[in-house]
Amino acid sequence: MSPLSPNHQLLPASEAVLGEGLTIRRALPTRLRRMVGPWTFLDHFGPTDVAHGDGMRVGPHPHIGLQTVTWLHRGEILHRDSLGSLLQIRPGQLNLMTSGRGISHSEESPDPRSPELHGLQFWIALPDHARHGEAMFDHYATLPVIERDGFTFTLMVGEGLGERSPARLFSPAVGIDAEVPGAAQTTIALNPDFEYAALVSEGEAAIDGETLRPGVMLYLGGGRDSLHLATTDAARFTLIGGEPFEAPVQMWWNFVARSKEEIVTAVTEWNAGRGAFGEVQGYDGERLRAPLPPWAQP
Ligand code: MN
Repeated sequence: MSPLSPNHQLLPASEAVLGEGLTIRRALPTRLRRMVGPWTFLDHFGPTDVAHGDGMRVGPHPHIGLQTVTWLHRGEILHRDSLGSLLQIRPGQLNLMTSGRGISHSEESPDPRSPELHGLQFWIALPDHARHGEAMFDHYATLPVIERDGFTFTLMVGEGLGERSPARLFSPAVGIDAEVPGAAQTTIALNPDFEYAALVSEGEAAIDGETLRPGVMLYLGGGRDSLHLATTDAARFTLIGGEPFEAPVQMWWNFVARSKEEIVTAVTEWNAGRGAFGEVQGYDGERLRAPLPPWAQP
């Protein structure tokens, strides 16, 4: 592996609207960068008014080859999965779903609910030794919180700031939420063996001197032992990092794999109701149908 070096690469997110007006900014993957360590997908959704209408409604769909990380700033999401999990997640809590060889789940706004929904969903690619294993769902109600120089850091996953998250990961990686009520600055320690990226979800923050707002992720490279953070007003941002991933991944729809053949198999099996995906009970709506990738169409 070539040694990592510090970098500044600005990655504009692509914007989409899901269902009834839930704005999604997709910061990973982008054309400029597919992964940051094992992090392979990052959606920043909202803030959206979900007081009226149905709110979030994502019907049963499958995953392979990844862990999903759900993290909320405001609001609630009701999670159901094929393992029988039925659970509401709230801000400050972590949902970590490990697909192993296959899982399916649905995500919806519960009733009653808070008027606003705002949060992040990440995917972490599973290394080869874990991607054929058992599916798992873990909910962490509390996580390590570190107060420093006016910043409140929450360690979502991995190790950092002298703490370790209880979340079960399969590759060396870290995910840190940072919240700050006003002007502040600090310097935090990083792992030089990790590559990192930062994403602002509220307000604005200067990360390593680069002023960021929602809609653009900053890839920071690696080989760094510290990072300077500064704000002039209230802000919220996330830092993700990890060792460069073991292999390039093949991604399509909700699947992370190593080959196009694995993707086609997953699409076919899910649509036929076969395979390791199981069934989601209790969701009031249709299961999603997997689209065939363009390169597999007749
Ligand atoms: Mn999903």
